[in-house]
Amino acid sequence: GQHMSSHLDLRDVSVSFNGFKALNALNMSVRKGELRCLIGPNGAGKTTALDIICGKVKPSAGTVSFDGTALQDLEEYEIARAGVGRKFQVPSVFRELSVSENFEVARARRTSVLGNLRWNIGNSGRADVERLAELVGLTDQLDRPAAYLSHGQTQWLEIGMLVAQDAELILMDEPTAGMTAQETRKTAELFARLKGKHTLIVVEHDMGFVKAIGDVISVMHMGQMLAEGTAAEVEAHPEVRRAYLGS
Ligand code: ADP
Repeated sequence: GQHMSSHLDLRDVSVSFNGFKALNALNMSVRKGELRCLIGPNGAGKTTALDIICGKVKPSAGTVSFDGTALQDLEEYEIARAGVGRKFQVPSVFRELSVSENFEVARARRTSVLGNLRWNIGNSGRADVERLAELVGLTDQLDRPAAYLSHGQTQWLEIGMLVAQDAELILMDEPTAGMTAQETRKTAELFARLKGKHTLIVVEHDMGFVKAIGDVISVMHMGQMLAEGTAAEVEAHPEVRRAYLGS
């Protein structure tokens, strides 16, 4: 198949909170276009790993490289500008604005000149907004205020906004939390559409969902990478079983 270069590299990343090592020399490599699931027991450091990548938390040691750029010393806005988007559990959509206006706001956020040219040349803004709406399944909601969207639709709007702002790498923390079974299924379909064009790292507890979407699963435990592989591989891993059973 197609050669996929290493895209994101965390090397020996450590960070402590009040003397507690939330990350303890964490290593992780993700290829371009991959959909990586990050799992592990509570407190394993999964959210902290996302916080480190997007610059919300600074590592005390180690490096984070994204397409050859060292991110660990950059500010959050610089990391966003480099193409890293983070979806938080509390959605950051504008509830009083319509779905299409939310997409417009996200589009205006992109600071790359090339991105703006790409958006504007040969396309009316509306056509791009409609393409985004179709991508995330909100075509029939474009003119409604975001406040009227269901929980699942709000999550999809936020993901569409990350796409609109040119996030090449999208980080998500439990995106299916609170979703109905049908919304979860649609989210899996959305991720399948995003994969390849975007690189996704998804922290997820729902193993059914993980098995449905993940190319490679990374299992964290006590601030380190415990195992990586397919669902079958990590489930058969003795240390993974021990970590989850807590023995
Ligand atoms: P996970 O996402 O795998 O459940 P977290 O990354 O949220 O794990 O947390 C890892 C550990 O670091 C936990 O023990 C948590 O309490 C601690 N921690 C995370 N963020 C902070 C913070 N800002 N201040 C203090 N402790 C934190």
